[in-house]
Amino acid sequence: MSNEIKPGRYRHFKGNEYEVLFMAKNSETLEPVVVYRALYGDRGVWVRPAAMWNETVELNGEKVKRFTYLGETCSSMTKIASFCVDHNTLKKGVYVSRTDGDVVTYDVRFKVPNSGDYLPNDGIHTIEHLLATYLRNSVYSESVIYVGPMGCRTGFYVLIKKDVSKADVIELLKKAMQFISDFEGEIPGCDKSECGNYLEHSLAKAKAAAVDMLGVLKNYTPEMMEYQSR
Ligand SMILES: [Zn+2]
Repeated sequence: MSNEIKPGRYRHFKGNEYEVLFMAKNSETLEPVVVYRALYGDRGVWVRPAAMWNETVELNGEKVKRFTYLGETCSSMTKIASFCVDHNTLKKGVYVSRTDGDVVTYDVRFKVPNSGDYLPNDGIHTIEHLLATYLRNSVYSESVIYVGPMGCRTGFYVLIKKDVSKADVIELLKKAMQFISDFEGEIPGCDKSECGNYLEHSLAKAKAAAVDMLGVLKNYTPEMMEYQSR
């Protein structure tokens, strides 16, 4: 039986995930071992005999693999970081998606992915106009690079320069959500000459989403802005 374990992500039958870094040999016995890292908690590095890695174990009377291969490790791939996030466990909130030089991409997630509940097209469009208006007129206007909706209609990407602290980004987004919740009157940039689909707007739906997001951000802290490991 081959004990060759390929590097990548694995799920232990009890649910936690690990990254196999490489194989090694026990210097005393020449036994092949797997060197792997926990993808949770303190991300400790462990060693275990390769033979054990491929074993099956009993779970609720069923034989299951001790470790199930999930795929390549994201760091070894050219995928963009957010595609490597486990969308099965992503909750509503604000996350640091990636940092490029002095620009941070924030994932402002209004909806739980694949939950069947998405921002409606007219609502997300109105949020885009109001969110961009608010951020571009805020005290951080010089630091806001980009605001744009996600194609999956579960949230927005907001690019802000690193000089704005994470705590300040949370406060800024709270104020932006308040601004949208309270907004009355004509949606900015909504003229046919300024917008690519000026008839597809809903202030009511934008407000409903902003009110919901206000609740999510109420007790939000910078520590919560890290994607939870799988
Ligand atoms: Zn528009």
